[in-house]
Amino acid sequence: MEKKFYITTAIDYLNAEPHIGHAYQKIIADVLARWNKAKGKEVFFLTGTDEHGQKIANSAREQEKKPKEFVDWLAPKFKESWKNLNLDFNRFIRTTDKDHQKKVKEFVKLMGKKGDLYKGKYTGLYCEGCEAYVTEKDLVNGKCPFHPNRAVKELSEEAYFFKLSKYEKKLLDFYKENKRYILPLFRKKEIVNRVKEGLKDLNVTRLKENMSWGIDFPLDDKYIIYVWYEALLNYLTGLGWPDDENYKKFWPADVEILGIDNGWFHCVIWPAMLMSVGIKPAKTILINGFLTFNGQKISKSLGNAISIEKLVRKYGADTIRYFVCRHFVFGQDGDFSEQALIDRHNNELANKLGNLVSRVAGLIEGNGVEKTENKLLKKFNEKKIDKLMENYEFDKVLNEIFAFVDKCNEYIQNKKPWETGDKKILYELKESILKIAELLWPFIPGSAEKIKKQFSAKNIKKGEILFKKI
Ligand SMILES: [Zn+2]
Repeated sequence: MEKKFYITTAIDYLNAEPHIGHAYQKIIADVLARWNKAKGKEVFFLTGTDEHGQKIANSAREQEKKPKEFVDWLAPKFKESWKNLNLDFNRFIRTTDKDHQKKVKEFVKLMGKKGDLYKGKYTGLYCEGCEAYVTEKDLVNGKCPFHPNRAVKELSEEAYFFKLSKYEKKLLDFYKENKRYILPLFRKKEIVNRVKEGLKDLNVTRLKENMSWGIDFPLDDKYIIYVWYEALLNYLTGLGWPDDENYKKFWPADVEILGIDNGWFHCVIWPAMLMSVGIKPAKTILINGFLTFNGQKISKSLGNAISIEKLVRKYGADTIRYFVCRHFVFGQDGDFSEQALIDRHNNELANKLGNLVSRVAGLIEGNGVEKTENKLLKKFNEKKIDKLMENYEFDKVLNEIFAFVDKCNEYIQNKKPWETGDKKILYELKESILKIAELLWPFIPGSAEKIKKQFSAKNIKKGEILFKKI
């Protein structure tokens, strides 16, 4: 088994405040990071913000701020939100960080040396929402499918190109050899089919006279680097590529998690960039679905309702974490319904888990425990959970764990330790609860740590209520 685990998330583009849509993916990343940590691996979890480009320059202007001022104001809100959700990341990278900018230039120079960059002229359609050139084929009713309210523009400028077309066959071979490179598999099919239709070389610069908020292009000072191209490099620069110890220890990434709007860049352009300079691509690109909020598409107009800070204050980090892992089938789109969250909080966390913990703690406080063979825990199939985690079926993992919680509650009903005071039964229950806490730790770390502390104590006490009903 591998001893290390490197996981990255998409870095969020700083043109709006953090909301539950951003948070969903970061929570999944944290769950995977903690799960691997619990398995004894050394983990590096990278997240951060994408801070250059036209849209950010525009948003800054709207607020009468300089771009740097604007991102310095917004980036901490993301970092703070992730802290509020109890995300235990190792680095929060900002693409305006000095070391990122320096290493990006090194990477460009290296790619230039490999002969994969050339100057040409680009004329084409451009979606400012995506900060990307688009082709007629990408459009739905003449509009970008991700930004149907914006017109795509015709843009023409001298530019530097990355020879992406050169990597078409290499990529197709790579997808074939690496069966789990793009997950879920239905996403893989979409992307592979598009690559088979042919790849065009990619414009990787913008003329400074048109747009200057970015990193200088080191091969020609009239240009800055196209924002997408340098943002992708954060997964390398965040580890201190090429000579830092962390890079040597953790690369290649084990999981890069992102939304389908980023799929093309991450599954096609990114591995081709790495192949160009001779670096191995990530092992798995994991694509999450999109969430709506109470049935509505998440947008700025929902405003404060979807603020992470407000949601955490209302429901607590663990309930939000539990809900997004339990309620959605990973990879599919879903609706973050507050009513569904409240129902699951009350029925599953408070009634099932909370009651089990408080009942057993109270009985042990009165009767004590006596070590014995654990027949109850024997009925529990932990291997099945490992298998489900390997397939990113978080909903089923939690379902299995809670089926065992149910079994523990039934065991109490059947054995009636409140009448018998049977210390052996209470020992079995105590050990089973500790196992449950261990398995739930990646999902609800705050509550799991409380349970562990309570049931590892020499004198177990009833203690406070774990989940108050909403
Ligand atoms: Zn777009």
